[in-house]
Amino acid sequence: MEQNLTMFSLKGKTALVTGANTGLGQGICVAYAATGANVIGVARRSCQETAEKIAAISGNFTEIIADLSDTNIIPRIVEEANKVYGRVDILVNNAGIIKRCDSVDVTIEDWEAVININEKNVFFLCQAFAKDWIPDKQGGKIINIASMLSYQGGIRVPAYTASKSAVMGLTKALANEWAKYNINVNAIAPGYMATNNTQNLRSDKQRSDEILSRIPAGRWGTPEDLTGAAIFLASDAASYVHGFTIAVDGGWLAR
Ligand code: NAD
Repeated sequence: MEQNLTMFSLKGKTALVTGANTGLGQGICVAYAATGANVIGVARRSCQETAEKIAAISGNFTEIIADLSDTNIIPRIVEEANKVYGRVDILVNNAGIIKRCDSVDVTIEDWEAVININEKNVFFLCQAFAKDWIPDKQGGKIINIASMLSYQGGIRVPAYTASKSAVMGLTKALANEWAKYNINVNAIAPGYMATNNTQNLRSDKQRSDEILSRIPAGRWGTPEDLTGAAIFLASDAASYVHGFTIAVDGGWLAR
């Protein structure tokens, strides 16, 4: 039977990806450009490497430098993003930080830093785009990056666990309100991926061995491993998928 693969194409769509300069965000940017999307990367620092990877495949990429620890930055991001290609169709809330520390030693500053980027500004970015998308009736796709710690407690990362559990909850809450406007709000929960986020874990031989031995696939994930789910959720193929978090975890949650 012939399959209609054009439903997976992002040709002519514009995607905004936060945390676009490294790791999973960079991988998603390159994959989106490869499937035809115009990509806007938001990052604290230059997205030079991401821009070069996309230029190498003749894709379109623009960066917006912004610090997502500050909620007041959001109107500027939305305004600049809408100017670049006319409209943003896909929002990927990928930027995130993690701070490892015994729960009894967590400071208010560290707690707020994690919650602001991983949770608060995820919500307000979703809200900002939905405010445009609801009246213009053209729908939109939101993909939030969750975590295994949306399902589990983790060890010595309480603010991160709180924020990523919130991401999964918010994904459902916003889907319930916005599905009727053809806005798909979904999430991806990466397993243990080899990026800066897990650098400390991977350099701790004992923790690294413990983690690896529990991953059925027998290896850490890569940014490329995440791109299939990211393309699917951004595409027309996912138009009836609402409020769901897809785990891309080498089988971790199945154990
Ligand atoms: P990473 O550290 O390479 O990427 C984090 C990104 O967030 C970077 O691009 C960084 O510039 C951006 N960022 C951080 N603070 C920012 C700020 N104040 N303003 C703007 N951008 C900011 O690690 P990663 O693994 O690619 O992480 C991407 C997302 O995936 C994060 O939300 C992370 O929590 C999540 N995640 C990662 C793993 C993993 O195993 N690597 C697992 C589950 C979830």
